[in-house]
Amino acid sequence: MSAVRKFLRRTGTVEGYTAGGYSHWCPAYEGMHAFAVYAPQRNGAQWLFDGNVDSPTFSPSKNIRVGPYPDDDEGKKGRTDVCHYFLRAGQIQFLGDCTHAMAGQTVPLPELPARYR
Ligand SMILES: [Zn+2]
Repeated sequence: MSAVRKFLRRTGTVEGYTAGGYSHWCPAYEGMHAFAVYAPQRNGAQWLFDGNVDSPTFSPSKNIRVGPYPDDDEGKKGRTDVCHYFLRAGQIQFLGDCTHAMAGQTVPLPELPARYR
């Protein structure tokens, strides 16, 4: 189980709803993203996990969109943040429509920050 703690965190809650799955650190977002595996999340999305905790693959891709931010949100108004990626064989493949600086890059899945292990 130590390998799970290295890259993935088993979670019983996804986005505030009990679903069950795994979360991982996203180096672009600098936060955790969660895949609902054992039950769908609120919008019905659900992912397949290949069970490889060292080099995990989840399918299909994950497309996170936050926004558009309201007009009274200084600095973010009207903006929609996108983090769209595949996690395959322990590699995060950020797609070209990401709005962050790692768009188009493929990077190894980082180890979990200590506070999430
Ligand atoms: Zn991300």
